[in-house]
Amino acid sequence: MLVALWQGQRIEAEDAPRDGRYHCPGCRGEVILKRGRKVCAHFAHKASTGCVGSRGETRAHLALKSLITQTLRRRGLRAEPEYTMGRVPWERRADVMVWAPRSNIPVAIELQRSSLPIRELEQRAFSYCRMGVAQLWIPFLQPQTWDSAQRCDEEGWIVPRYAPRQHELWIHGLNNHEGYWMADPETRQFWRAYPEAHALTVKEALWYEKGAIKRYREPTTRLSKRYRNLILRGPFSLDDLKISFSERRPERSQYFNWPGGKIATFVQ
Ligand SMILES: [Zn+2]
Repeated sequence: MLVALWQGQRIEAEDAPRDGRYHCPGCRGEVILKRGRKVCAHFAHKASTGCVGSRGETRAHLALKSLITQTLRRRGLRAEPEYTMGRVPWERRADVMVWAPRSNIPVAIELQRSSLPIRELEQRAFSYCRMGVAQLWIPFLQPQTWDSAQRCDEEGWIVPRYAPRQHELWIHGLNNHEGYWMADPETRQFWRAYPEAHALTVKEALWYEKGAIKRYREPTTRLSKRYRNLILRGPFSLDDLKISFSERRPERSQYFNWPGGKIATFVQ
């Protein structure tokens, strides 16, 4: 985690004195400051606990949270890592909360590495909407995605037969089915992603029914339930992206539930 409690106040690992005593804002357990050349400054629980703040966070995740916070602050915006709004339970802290300059609308930026249960994402999304917080969900691009990527034009790649994770499909829906931004944790760059339908070819068939009636079915195509063609455009550095807002209506599908409220996205 990037933020701990020090003398009852939030303190970021970047600014924390080496000899301080720090506590986890969630479970109040003791945490230790880790700061080195290879890893971005952070806190780790002294003893392993069941605390959600100790749920495996990779170096890449920490580094990306820190990068987003610092980049937005350089623009003069108020940005806070690991921020909890109001009475939302601590485990629903946003990775980064940033406030829009004139309107002061808070925007929760959520980096999604692993598949949390969809119900958990939905609960979080509904509570942000209730509090008037705009939300921007960013799934992580998995390194193996590139194994089957093919160039489709100067700044575009296509990944055929891509199996989107559940949370990606949910985020796509949250964004009015207009795609989503993905973060590459290795390069710390951002990609515009769109999961378009993937067509499967159904071969022609010839068979005989009782009474020697000849039957023929022409080759056709149908849409795959499991696969998409993932279109990726980029990469973009966060320095070149701005945040924009829109409103979405509540919606539900067979599998997912989306609240009505403010959503945010990056624009160039
Ligand atoms: Zn804790």
